[in-house]
Amino acid sequence: MAEAIVEKGGVINKVIELKNFIGGKFIDSVSGKRFENRYPATNEVIATVPESGREDVEMAVESAVKAFKVWSKMPVKERSKYLMKISELIMERLDELSYLESVDVGKPIRLARGMEIPRASYNFSFFAEFAKYVHTEFYETDDRGAINYVLRRPVGVAGLITPWNLPLVLTTWKVAPCLAAGNTCIIKPSELTPITATKLAEIAAEAGLPDGVLNVVHGFGPNSAGEFIVSHPDVKLISLTGETTTGQAIMRTASQHLKKLSFELGGKNPNIIFADADLEQALDVTIQSSFSNQGEVCLCGSRIYVERKIYDEFVERLVERAKRMKVGDPLDPETDMGALISEEHLHKVRTYLEIAVADGGKILTGGKTPEHLPEKFKSGNWLEPTVIVGLNDNCRVIKEEIFGPVVTVSPFDTEEEVIERANNTHYGLSATIWTNDLSRAHRVASQIEAGVIWINTWFLRDLRTPFGGMKMSGLGREGGIYSFEFYTELKNVCIKLQ
Ligand code: NAD
Repeated sequence: MAEAIVEKGGVINKVIELKNFIGGKFIDSVSGKRFENRYPATNEVIATVPESGREDVEMAVESAVKAFKVWSKMPVKERSKYLMKISELIMERLDELSYLESVDVGKPIRLARGMEIPRASYNFSFFAEFAKYVHTEFYETDDRGAINYVLRRPVGVAGLITPWNLPLVLTTWKVAPCLAAGNTCIIKPSELTPITATKLAEIAAEAGLPDGVLNVVHGFGPNSAGEFIVSHPDVKLISLTGETTTGQAIMRTASQHLKKLSFELGGKNPNIIFADADLEQALDVTIQSSFSNQGEVCLCGSRIYVERKIYDEFVERLVERAKRMKVGDPLDPETDMGALISEEHLHKVRTYLEIAVADGGKILTGGKTPEHLPEKFKSGNWLEPTVIVGLNDNCRVIKEEIFGPVVTVSPFDTEEEVIERANNTHYGLSATIWTNDLSRAHRVASQIEAGVIWINTWFLRDLRTPFGGMKMSGLGREGGIYSFEFYTELKNVCIKLQ
């Protein structure tokens, strides 16, 4: 592994200079402008990043359009070989990529190494395999003496716009099916976490991926690289993971050219815990679903509803576990929770804590900067795991996405009541149900308005299943064949048999 940017303990060794990756070359932005990328644990600069404008996007689109002519016609088996190679190279660089993801996001290295980077690699190997078995339909129109078959074709250049919370997982979740289906792409990573997308470009080059098939353009969203990609007439499809308001802005811009859109957006996910659940297991997993990645996962359960009979015991034991979590150095393998992504985000999360208190909520644990942090980390974005009770369902803290290590816990009495309360939100991404009553589990799952429901588990993903949100949590589904539905166009061919 190359010399460390940051050491354990937070000492910054060097500032790296990232580049765009366009047409197979690492280059600066045309304007030469750069912006800074900071280590969330100290808020010191660790990288400078090209601030791309219209000309950079134009170059990337040109190279992706050119590459599409070759890549889209390449047999699937050939394309799959490249993707498989990328998958292998990601695993070969597991240590380096885990380290970089931890430093860029401020997340525990254990999470990056144990889950995220292996999953980024699997995204490529899964879609490399899956693409070989994708099929289409055939219809015999026997009353008219005709047959119909359906051809599946790649769409063109895709704009893949990603957030900062799980950078490489979410980038590869888009890039792998996009390329497997025969499209070319321009990746626009979050301005807050640009590092691993740049490394993915290095890996693509090492895997021999033809120039222009995968491009990375750094920059911001509105009136910057993100918007210029979305408004470019030759970019035919946009896949975004980000905030709901970003989805709305992109939809407005993309409407001019009627682009294909796939959105994975915000959530305010309910965790429903019935009294008959295995409490020990429910608590172990709820701690993860509340505070994993500092609560900065779209699938985190932020509204916990507990049946009144076990409410007091559950809250007491949840608080106990939250207090035991080790918050600190992202690079320490023992760390459970790292730093929040930015000062601005920390401020937003803290504002919600003030609102909670003003609305009559009680913070049972957390809400403060951890006291034991070493001096070096005092300038970072820290917050203890926070559990709030005593709020009613109409408070902003229960209605709006906070995206930090903050959960609310509320009691409920009946199944009907909790279903109604769980659905009382504009969001509909995921939900978790804890019960040992099989009939109830199915009954509740069928009535909760969310794209992904987990029963007695959380974040267990099979990449063949449809992933996405209902209501304001998204548009469309990705995963398995659903990704191919998005990244391909279908063409019906009808033949009259004489
Ligand atoms: P964000 O919406 O601020 O940014 C996401 C990306 O969109 C960034 O690359 C940004 O530069 C770009 N962008 C912003 N405005 C744009 C515009 N007008 N045109 C083009 N691009 C634009 O989101 P974030 O803060 O990076 O991520 C957190 C959000 O992502 C949360 O709401 C979270 O719930 C959501 N998220 C959802 C999922 C899911 O699968 N549903 C997964 C992870 C995160």
